[in-house]
Amino acid sequence: MGIRVPDNIATLKPYPPGKPLEELEREYGISDSIKLASNENPLGPSPMALEAIHKYLKNLGRYPDGSGFYLRERLSQRLGVDESSIVLGNGSNEIIDLVIRTFVQPGDEVLMSEPTFLVYRLMTQAVGGRPVQVGQKSFAHDLEAIADAFTPRTRIVFLDNPNNPSGSVINRKDFENFRGRVPEDVLIVLDEAYMEFADTEQTVVGLEYLNLSPPVVSLRTFSKAYGLAGLRIGYGVMPSEVAGYLNRVRQPFNVNSLAQVAALAALDDEPFLQETQKVVREGLAFLYRELAEMKLRTLPTQTNFFLIEVGYEARKVYEAMLRRGVIIRAMNSYGLDNYIRISVGRPEENQRFLNALKEVMKELKEDG
Ligand SMILES: *Cc1c(COP(=O)(O)O)cnc(C)c1O
Repeated sequence: MGIRVPDNIATLKPYPPGKPLEELEREYGISDSIKLASNENPLGPSPMALEAIHKYLKNLGRYPDGSGFYLRERLSQRLGVDESSIVLGNGSNEIIDLVIRTFVQPGDEVLMSEPTFLVYRLMTQAVGGRPVQVGQKSFAHDLEAIADAFTPRTRIVFLDNPNNPSGSVINRKDFENFRGRVPEDVLIVLDEAYMEFADTEQTVVGLEYLNLSPPVVSLRTFSKAYGLAGLRIGYGVMPSEVAGYLNRVRQPFNVNSLAQVAALAALDDEPFLQETQKVVREGLAFLYRELAEMKLRTLPTQTNFFLIEVGYEARKVYEAMLRRGVIIRAMNSYGLDNYIRISVGRPEENQRFLNALKEVMKELKEDG
């Protein structure tokens, strides 16, 4: 093919796409598998969101509201910020993409930790920017080392708080010290995809820094605590000047209408949110207790997922679990070869995970 591909695209490693559940089941000859691999809501979608979707279906012939008027209005009341500070996205992933496309030019640097959410690096590379990754300290962002890595070409620093995959959070004092070292022209992005599960006494919340300098962008999503991952909706809260730039780059109808009505309804579904938080809290307590009995090392978490050190090649554990119909995440692609990540499920799913893991650990031990 004579077509010319820019180097930054040719060398991009695509995000590893998981196979559809049905395909995996067919391949492995299993049925009724459970998936604890993508940090989704164990209860599924908010029932109020589902109802709103049903009601709206007949209007699908129309384009969505490109300004997301009602949802931004409701969020602005909830969060106590001006509507002009809120940008909606096709998942918070789209806001990550927008921030990068808006502010990063070829050769510019984007700072992040290692390991962290893979999307920051992918999108940076896609625009010809240079992702600069800084190793973590004890499974948490090493803010001092990140601050040491600023150069005149740094445009953005991404911090997922809580961090995926470790589940750790940034404490307030560390963030205060860090902020003092961030150049005025660098955007701090706090990705708060799991903040609904975190103890906010212990960690920073981006909203508190909205209009201070350097500017802070906070990312939130309906994919996790609200159970709407399949609809793709999230948002960013940022100084309105920054939002204005993103709105120039954003596609006019980036958020579909079902996502908008569902998110609006989910925000009012307080019982669902509370039930989700309870199921996750109780599931974590149960899993930690049982895994400690199995003498497996686990990492503490402020999210609905956590890391387990399995003592064997994670991919092997993943395969063996899959054969038993339990889908988890091997952390090899994050450079954690002996770790798996699991998302908290419903009680019966957690039990099934444990039963399978016990068998797998025994099998691997026997294999030497
Ligand atoms: C799941 C997750 C998101 C959510 O992305 P959406 O596009 O909103 O589904 C964002 N950041 C991190 C770190 C995540 O783990």
